[in-house]
Amino acid sequence: MRQPAALDLSGIPAVDGHCHPLVAASEEVSRERFLDLFSEGRAGTMRAHVAQTGYLKRALRGLADGLGCAPTVEAVLERRRAGGPEAARRRFAGSGITALLVDTGYPVVGAMPLAEMRRALPCAVHEVFRIETCAQGLIAHGLPYEEFLGAFRAALSAAAAHAVALKSIIAYRSGLAVRTWEAADAARAYRDVVARIKAGGSARLTEKPLLDTLFEIALGVCRESGRPLQVHSGFGDPDVDLLQANPLWLRPILEDPRWGDVRIVVLHMSYPYAREAAFMAAVWPQVYVDLSLALPFLGPAAALPLVEMLALAPASKLMYGSDVSALPELYALSADWGRAALSEALGWLVERDGLTESEALEVARQVLSESAAALYRLER
Ligand SMILES: [Zn+2]
Repeated sequence: MRQPAALDLSGIPAVDGHCHPLVAASEEVSRERFLDLFSEGRAGTMRAHVAQTGYLKRALRGLADGLGCAPTVEAVLERRRAGGPEAARRRFAGSGITALLVDTGYPVVGAMPLAEMRRALPCAVHEVFRIETCAQGLIAHGLPYEEFLGAFRAALSAAAAHAVALKSIIAYRSGLAVRTWEAADAARAYRDVVARIKAGGSARLTEKPLLDTLFEIALGVCRESGRPLQVHSGFGDPDVDLLQANPLWLRPILEDPRWGDVRIVVLHMSYPYAREAAFMAAVWPQVYVDLSLALPFLGPAAALPLVEMLALAPASKLMYGSDVSALPELYALSADWGRAALSEALGWLVERDGLTESEALEVARQVLSESAAALYRLER
């Protein structure tokens, strides 16, 4: 039997193309908050079951390894506390992560500001600017509709001057089947929201005519600024209507000549729509696929969808990401697992003459950092 091709990717730097902020004093994280980091379930609802997931078991082993303790929640949290911020920083520093692209739209409470993250971590930290959070903040002012649209457009343009990408979570609200609406429909939806907020109701936007209109404004800002648009697709927390998060719903936008130049990054491997995402990256030049969330959650099993994605999509369109937040070590663990799953998938292809070994190493460099560096114009 042929020896499986073992590709050593440990020396290849990684750009984490989609993640979330650290929390302040992360070494003090509570047991409850820690457990919630390993589930997409609503806060607190999955704690009885999280210990039974591969994700947490794997993470505890990875953390315990570095800390020299037993792989239990209690032992790991105690050692983290004793080691303080410096130990967590050391673990991060050993991960070969050169840049984080941080979606500052979540968490809303307790997130470390990016300036502080830049001091805390030995890598570049770039902002990804979430458009719906911006819109919700502006709606609270209750401006007339046209003025609101002007303020929204101006805020996105200002953000595009420093953020490396804009991001939309419209999949979580009214779905990815975005279309153009009559201005009167969007204006009516806007006035309804303003009235609802004034009456003490929720500021959470779900009105499709308004959200679709804001999405189109974001596409316009991306076209003018050359910034890519990251779009949530596929799984996430139970708020998501997974049927509406299939990236194939984006086809009308991809076929619309107005938006032909806007690079769209479908997030989270679009899992479970990984085949759809790979197909899209293979046929529309402007579509890119981020591999975050699926990678740390699936761990070694991420090699299975990766084999098909690597076989179908151009390597210049596939990009590593974690979607983790809060603790420095999680970004590091995710990068380790990402390299391992990628190595496994590429090794499978090399064994079957799908790629030569040197081609596979080149693909690994692209997926781990070079595709993202080119797309987001990161300094190397
Ligand atoms: Zn995210």
